[in-house]
Amino acid sequence: MDSDILVSLRGLDIGIRTSKGLLIPISDLSFDIMRGESVCLVGESGCGKSITALSILGLLPHPPFEVIGGEIIFDKTDLIGMGPRQLCSIRGKRIGMIFQEPMTALNPVFSIGDQIAESITTHLRLSTGQVRERVIELLRQVQMPAPEERMSSYPHQLSGGLRQRAMIAMALACCPDFLIADEPTTALDVTTQAQILWLLNRLREQRRLTLLFITHNLGVVAQIAHKVLIMYAGSIVEQAPVRELFKRPLHPYTQGLMNSVPYGLPEDTRRLQSIPGSVPALDSIPSGCAFQDRCPRVMDICRKIRPKKVQIDRDRWVACHLFSNR
Ligand code: SF4
Repeated sequence: MDSDILVSLRGLDIGIRTSKGLLIPISDLSFDIMRGESVCLVGESGCGKSITALSILGLLPHPPFEVIGGEIIFDKTDLIGMGPRQLCSIRGKRIGMIFQEPMTALNPVFSIGDQIAESITTHLRLSTGQVRERVIELLRQVQMPAPEERMSSYPHQLSGGLRQRAMIAMALACCPDFLIADEPTTALDVTTQAQILWLLNRLREQRRLTLLFITHNLGVVAQIAHKVLIMYAGSIVEQAPVRELFKRPLHPYTQGLMNSVPYGLPEDTRRLQSIPGSVPALDSIPSGCAFQDRCPRVMDICRKIRPKKVQIDRDRWVACHLFSNR
């Protein structure tokens, strides 16, 4: 494996045991994230983005979830099958996570300072004074105003933007190599969202972090990604460097997502379009291409055979029959 690859998912299949039998929310998922790279995982709600993130951290509840096959390689080590103690030593220390809604992710009965300190004391041997210094320094790095006073605040005493800054400080507490951000700006207003994206970009550059950023918002992707993975019904349907994707989206699903986003520019006079229908339920994913019932370019073959990846360029591929004969 290329030594510059920090995270590699290889043929990951995840199942959920239900009364209807085994359902497959994630199927044959494969992608690599290079050290220092910022990768966006994009798709509508219900595509499997958060399940992917939680599976990397070993946080999927088992049962009902189970990993049926594949590998999750982090820094040359397969995380699947690792014991809880080993996983705990990686989680928080080498892999950090920022959750979507800090009000539910933060514990309401502890101050944010105590919650950040917990992560530090779990993984690092530092004195009480050193932990306090580190908490203040982390809050300063995420640009929390008056960090010495704010560290005693409880989550409900902070605005949504400040709570998200506290979550970022917690995720960075032990200097992880890899940060997973699961829709970290979705619950924020547009101005605060821009501030948090700017902060994440700055921290990523300063700390040479590798980032997996999960979002359904292509406007956010343009601001933070090097590489984009478009996910639909539990599989990646297109991978591309961010500029290439915006210049020439290939998969009809990617095109549908692009056509539904306002660019906010005066010269943009497009009529916004929606993608008809919705992501299929897990028990009714059609055989063949999962996007067939919503695709404006569907062909007979799409209803019979699942499209395979077609390599378009070095770091670019698409899974769609429109490109199968290239
Ligand atoms: Fe549309 Fe067929 Fe491509 Fe699926 S494989 S996205 S149905 S053209």
